[in-house]
Amino acid sequence: MGLNRFSLSGKRALVTGASRGIGQALAIALAEADADVAVTARSKEALAGTVKAIDAASRNSIAIAADVRAVDDCRRAVAQTVAALGGIDILVNNAGIEQVSPSLDVDEALWDKIVDTNLKGAFFMAQAAARAMKGGAILNLCSLTSERGIPTAAPYGSSKTGLLGMTRALAAEWAKRGIRVNALAPGYFRTEMTEMFYADANWQASMLAKIPMDRFGVMDDLAGAAIFLCSDAASYVTGICLPVDGGTLASI
Ligand code: NDP
Repeated sequence: MGLNRFSLSGKRALVTGASRGIGQALAIALAEADADVAVTARSKEALAGTVKAIDAASRNSIAIAADVRAVDDCRRAVAQTVAALGGIDILVNNAGIEQVSPSLDVDEALWDKIVDTNLKGAFFMAQAAARAMKGGAILNLCSLTSERGIPTAAPYGSSKTGLLGMTRALAAEWAKRGIRVNALAPGYFRTEMTEMFYADANWQASMLAKIPMDRFGVMDDLAGAAIFLCSDAASYVTGICLPVDGGTLASI
């Protein structure tokens, strides 16, 4: 019992979209919690830094090039993970994109790109992983837009609200298989995806005003929450979406 329950020793994880940003930070955090970690992005080269950090934590790793929009890539990524690490116990569905646009200007291509990456990709990764898992944990990267409406983010918000619904449905369906399915809703974290917002000082000031803790998130804020939900410490927790947002959702 105790702190051992938070250890990921003996567990095999797959983190999608781990070439940078939150996915990279979570892949390294899982390795530091003693999991072996497979990482994906659209190119293998982009994963070199992440693999190096996992190696530095003395854990096994494999870099896999896979586009989550392609169902065959999802299945191949899981199969390569199982072949390289001997199985799969944890899936972190992190790969995601955002592109804001007034809703009157959203075209079919933009809608499909965002929803196929953030929602369809997450579903088929989860399906492929669940077929291979003998129990385990799936963690989906939701968002404040899973809970609140944000102007010019309709496709993204639709995908992330859908991802929350998917989290709950799979949690209910796969509990009998011993698979827990949870989500994180990060608040505002500075990454390549959000750089377009952070570049605007007015945006920063208006967002900070909505964060009771009066600061943006840093990767360590997410790591502990992710390790908890992927670990046996969360053995009776499934179907939740945990905000990691400095109190934003509680106050808006
Ligand atoms: P980044 O843009 O920094 O990273 C996105 C990652 O997803 C990259 O590794 C990218 O890899 C990968 N990716 C994108 N498209 C695909 C694809 N089609 N197939 C496979 N991989 C893909 O974003 P963040 O780190 O900010 O975001 C990570 C997740 O967290 C996303 O799901 C996002 O919605 C969510 N989130 C982020 C928040 C934030 O404040 N940053 C807030 C709330 C949620 P590559 O381009 O190398 O293929």
